[in-house]
Amino acid sequence: MTDVRWLEHLVPDYLWAAGVVAGDGDEGLFTLARIHDAINSVIPAGGPSPDGVFDGGLVSLERLSGSERDRVRSILTARGLVDVAVSAGFAHALRMYPSAPGNWLANLVALPGDHVDPLEAEKYLNRAIAAIADGRGHGATAIKATVFRQMLASRALSFAPDAFPMEELGRYPKDVTPSERRLVEASIRASYLATAALDDAQNAARIAWARRFWDANWNLYACRAAVLEDDEAAGKDNALDRGGTAAVAGDEADDRSQSGERVTALWDDFLRTALQTDPHLYDPGRHEVLSGLASHGFRLAFAVAAHPGLWIGEFSGPLLRSMAEVIIYLAWFATPEGREPAAHVRFKEYGRGHLKLLKLHAEEFADRAGSSEMLDDFLEDLEEEVNLELGEEWQDISFEGTFSGRDLRKMAIAADVTWLYKLVVGPASSVLHSEWPVLTRYAMELCVNPVHRPHWLPRRDLKPALRPVAGVSAAVLAGYLLDAYKAALVLPSGEAPRADASPAEEPPD
Ligand SMILES: [Zn+2]
Repeated sequence: MTDVRWLEHLVPDYLWAAGVVAGDGDEGLFTLARIHDAINSVIPAGGPSPDGVFDGGLVSLERLSGSERDRVRSILTARGLVDVAVSAGFAHALRMYPSAPGNWLANLVALPGDHVDPLEAEKYLNRAIAAIADGRGHGATAIKATVFRQMLASRALSFAPDAFPMEELGRYPKDVTPSERRLVEASIRASYLATAALDDAQNAARIAWARRFWDANWNLYACRAAVLEDDEAAGKDNALDRGGTAAVAGDEADDRSQSGERVTALWDDFLRTALQTDPHLYDPGRHEVLSGLASHGFRLAFAVAAHPGLWIGEFSGPLLRSMAEVIIYLAWFATPEGREPAAHVRFKEYGRGHLKLLKLHAEEFADRAGSSEMLDDFLEDLEEEVNLELGEEWQDISFEGTFSGRDLRKMAIAADVTWLYKLVVGPASSVLHSEWPVLTRYAMELCVNPVHRPHWLPRRDLKPALRPVAGVSAAVLAGYLLDAYKAALVLPSGEAPRADASPAEEPPD
């Protein structure tokens, strides 16, 4: 058994049959059956066994011998089926591939001046592929039904009396109820799947042709970009073209200014709280760490809310992730472990250790590379920053994932904010790490030309269309940030911050 996929591996083999059934599946099914019957009448036992039966696929057409091809030509002519069986579109299409299997059938129809028209070819292929691309759709089911019929006729397939709805099959497709139709079609698709997965010569030839067909199409036909949903929603008139300050359609313009104003209002509340709460100057470390974290978080929120260039998740993701991390830290500082005096000390030490490590690396680099003005300036600045609060000889370097010695997820669990970890950090991390769904969502567009299969291309527009989604998210997160800051600031004794700060407004869902 091999992994055989319908569109990728099998559809190219049925490009002829697909053209016959495109349009009305049931009517096409009868037409295809009439052609098959004509061919069966001149080919013994329905096909060139043992390599597989004639099933309407191009590969099975190709395997007919010279004399069999002559007999097929004669019978189609005699029964007036040549024009039905071989359309001009099919003839144009197949002649685009000089070594296509079954091209002798395409050559039954003469093209004016023997000229192959790529536009006619693409038109035929688009229609044929679109008709059967969905393996469970009407067109594909009609193809599979005729294949199944050929298998039965050639006795390549037989069933125990109860294993298949034979009686219903006899009345299919015209004289069945909807539920009988579903039963018959599901059975047909299941038995088709079983034969298509065989690791035999017929399937190997089909897959080889499929590869040639799809690969050739890159040079034969142009890409066709899908209309991007977000461009449509935002209007193609790009706000960034006008300096990023222009209004966005309707309600969204309000959202934009509202998000910025909302973050500003929360910031004012935060600042009042921070400045009016006693920092305990004998050891102000906790007040400093909490306020520094919150200040950074608000600045991120404001940047996203106020700058249209950051409204796209592609750009705001890393910033919102950082915000969520800040909120998790603040929430953790409100846990019993986070309230221990060592907690904020560890936070500072952790970051300072990383800076010290950078200084050591930079010095090592300077020893090897020799001095330069830029490097010397950099080292001088580092020297000052590293020793700002504490001599570097007293600083340890930690290689833990976070300052607390637990990973962020465990901190979120301890602080009872796992929702933040799962619903914000997770998706925003996928942006930060450029995971595949993020690339298709923001940076790619689909080529929808059926002859190209669906495939992804880079977006043609460097400038994104704008909707203030991330601006609204930033404002909502800023509300949680303020709550977490205030909760962490409450002293262990239960003494509330001195400011008469009202609790942050509940952010909307
Ligand atoms: Zn394409």
